[in-house]
Amino acid sequence: MKQKILSTLCLIGVILGFSLAPISSAQLNNPETITKDRNVQILEEKTGNGETTLYAYLTNCSEVTISLTMTLTNASASCKLPLVIDTMGRSSLALATVRAVDPKYAWDYNYQYDWQPGRRGEISTTSFIYSLPYTTEKYTVIQTDLGSFSHQKGSWHEHAIDWAMPVGTKVCAAREGTVVAIRQDSDKGGEDQKYKIQSSNYVIIMHDDGTFAEYCHLKKNGVAVSLGQKVKRLECLGFSGNTGYSSKPHLHFAVFQTIDGQTRRTIPIRFKTKTGKVETLREDKKY
Ligand SMILES: [Zn+2]
Repeated sequence: MKQKILSTLCLIGVILGFSLAPISSAQLNNPETITKDRNVQILEEKTGNGETTLYAYLTNCSEVTISLTMTLTNASASCKLPLVIDTMGRSSLALATVRAVDPKYAWDYNYQYDWQPGRRGEISTTSFIYSLPYTTEKYTVIQTDLGSFSHQKGSWHEHAIDWAMPVGTKVCAAREGTVVAIRQDSDKGGEDQKYKIQSSNYVIIMHDDGTFAEYCHLKKNGVAVSLGQKVKRLECLGFSGNTGYSSKPHLHFAVFQTIDGQTRRTIPIRFKTKTGKVETLREDKKY
């Protein structure tokens, strides 16, 4: 879900509304066009006194951490840069105001931002025992901790688990919590590197110990919960799919702690399996 947008601005223009831009006919007609994740947009508003304020606007998410960097030419920012900020349930927030240092001369700035679900902070437990995130039959684990396809050491998905499962399988909450981000408008996926960024559908759940869980690769329009909804353990969250960077239909599940808008730490997890035992899952085994 990492995304980077680089925007170089001129001094003209009032509001640049990324979130208001319609999907072009080229996007609709070209099957290779990936619908980007637009859940976090930054808009710029130029005020009457020559300042510009950058605002973050959130749709379909309430808990994200944003990292903002800026390059300033004869300009200053109202905050210390780089800025790292947690949205903490807000749907919009001002990030920074920039202004000329010497208004007699031209001034300029550009910015880059990254975001990811979750908020920073201490986590109180890491030993929680999770339920398997499905209730139907057993499914084969195709990738676990440090898996070579996409869970490599040091990656965003180091301690994630993937189960192969048919598209449309009911995905359930492995732990109770609150829905803090959803996406379900993507219908694209595959092994090509181009699918690594912003092409997966997902549900993100916030747990009461400060950790977050992600349920990824869901099918298009396959989310069954709404933002802010409290979910119980094993409540249906949606339906599995094959969107995003994915070699075959599967469910990707990870628990993580957010570090900033660019980095996070996934947490090793254990499950209570259908045998009643608490287990660390192993690749190529059915659970
Ligand atoms: Zn995975």
